Amino acid sequence: MKNRVIIGAGGAGLVAALSAHESGAKVTIITKEYPTRSQTCMAQGGINAALSNVDEDSAELHVQNTLKSAHFLADYEAVNFLCKSAPEAIAWLDSIGVPFSRTKDGKIAQRKLGGASASRACYAQDYTGLKILHTLYDRCVAGGIEFLNERYLLDFITYDNHNKKSVCGVSVLNKRSGEVELIQSCSVIVATGGYSRVFHNYSTNSVASCGDGIAAALRAGARASDLEFIQFHPTALKGSSILMSESARGAGGYLLNSKGERFINELAPRDEVSRAIYDEMSKGESIFLDIRHLGSEFIEKELPQEAKLSKLYENIDPALELIPIKPAAHYTMGGIDVNNRSLTNIEGLFAAGECANHRVHGANRLGGNSLLEIVVFGKVAGESAAKFAKESDFDTDIKEYKEPHVESLELVKSYTNEINFYEKYSELAKLFYLHVGIKRDKESLHKVLKSVKEIKQSIHKMGVSDKSKKYNTNLIEFLEFKNMLFLSELILLSAIQRDESRGAHFRVDSQMSKKAFDVHTIIDKDGVISYEN
Ligand SMILES: Cc1cc2nc3c(=O)[nH]c(=O)nc-3n(C[C@H](O)[C@H](O)[C@H](O)COP(=O)(O)OP(=O)(O)OC[C@H]3O[C@@H](n4cnc5c(N)ncnc54)[C@H](O)[C@@H]3O)c2cc1C
Repeated sequence: MKNRVIIGAGGAGLVAALSAHESGAKVTIITKEYPTRSQTCMAQGGINAALSNVDEDSAELHVQNTLKSAHFLADYEAVNFLCKSAPEAIAWLDSIGVPFSRTKDGKIAQRKLGGASASRACYAQDYTGLKILHTLYDRCVAGGIEFLNERYLLDFITYDNHNKKSVCGVSVLNKRSGEVELIQSCSVIVATGGYSRVFHNYSTNSVASCGDGIAAALRAGARASDLEFIQFHPTALKGSSILMSESARGAGGYLLNSKGERFINELAPRDEVSRAIYDEMSKGESIFLDIRHLGSEFIEKELPQEAKLSKLYENIDPALELIPIKPAAHYTMGGIDVNNRSLTNIEGLFAAGECANHRVHGANRLGGNSLLEIVVFGKVAGESAAKFAKESDFDTDIKEYKEPHVESLELVKSYTNEINFYEKYSELAKLFYLHVGIKRDKESLHKVLKSVKEIKQSIHKMGVSDKSKKYNTNLIEFLEFKNMLFLSELILLSAIQRDESRGAHFRVDSQMSKKAFDVHTIIDKDGVISYEN
């Protein structure tokens, strides 16, 4: 049986692994941390499916809500497939043991999230992602799937296959030993999550969401699309950027300014709510989430994690006090461009989850649709990769490919470390928050691009102070920073060229949507942009 690799052990990677395994493939999962720590465990609000367990609902309404929120930038076929597959995806999660919250009559409970016309999000209290991730992990372990933890993906290894680029494995840095390892595989699924950590502390995301897989795929010759669309979540805790889930507003929570006034429909799509908060904050207002009226019993039962996080990080009891919030970078709609079988333009290289763009979220993702995407398209990616591997005739030993990977890592280690890259990262993130965030304009975008280019030019003066081999966190963080820097330039180029406003991309200097931009931005590693329907 041929070997196969899956990079990333979040929800998308684990679903893909299970489905490839079921299709008869040998599966190896690689992750830079441990599977149970993947960002998927942070998802609180829920996973969408039109089950009509609470309100009258239908897959057609789910499709319509998704397309509306996407601002005409999602692919109808892909959205239709996603929404129609949703009830089956929930039934499967239920069958493998995800402990969904239930209604009094024993059906899976559902709640309403922003932009949805019905209570559609299935949930497990506000620990939905955690329960899903841990159940998937249990299944993978029970199925005997191999995990290589603490392996940092460096690059994809490709070869020329009858004038077409094909993948034949990956190079990783074994964090434990500090050695570069090559792992051979004739199909590879990238499932490394999004790139919101470009915003560093102004992001709700896990520290692992650095866009590593997207950067590596681009370097290998894949294309990325729609990188300029970065969703801000309206309600992150003011001090720490930790998320207060939409489920709080779904349950009836209000948004208030310092005067105690409500100023927006709390369940409008995220781009609208974030802009309304941004405008209030620009007037000098502080913004609060108010769930006091829901009562302590309800909060403890339905929103226990949010109560805990507010106490821990803001010293606030949300049953009695207002929760101070701000918008923070939350979800990246763009990613590795894939077709409806999750295939990139490189033979054998597939992508799923937040690192991929299946064109289902367009300019603004609906809450609850990302967990759905990782299940529905994770399955597609797993099946596609298993089928590809079965048909592949690649049988060359890839040892000979090792040298360049070792050399490029040695080069990075030889950088002079005169400039502190951690400081540069913080500076860049602040610039991104101020100018590449909720509101943007061409002039500021150009200024940030200039800064990015300057940092890139002096990258060889950065590097690491720790030269040790084992568990060199300093080195990994530098490699992550390099990937984020690389992606920053591509995000900026995409945002500058999209001379209009659409969903999460709001250009103060061009505030209307333009028909000419009803297209996806495609970008390659050199920043060459084209547009596709
Ligand atoms: C706080 C929060 C709340 C959310 N709530 C919801 C919600 O209620 N509903 C919803 O639909 N969506 C929600 N989302 C979004 C959703 O959780 C994510 O989009 C989704 O979980 C992404 O899953 P993934 O498998 O693509 O990536 P991840 O879960 O991010 O997993 C990526 C994996 O790749 C690994 N990896 C990354 N880089 C490398 C590398 N270089 N080498 C090796 N491994 C690597 C990571 O270690 C990790 O294992 C939320 C997001 C956040 C941050």
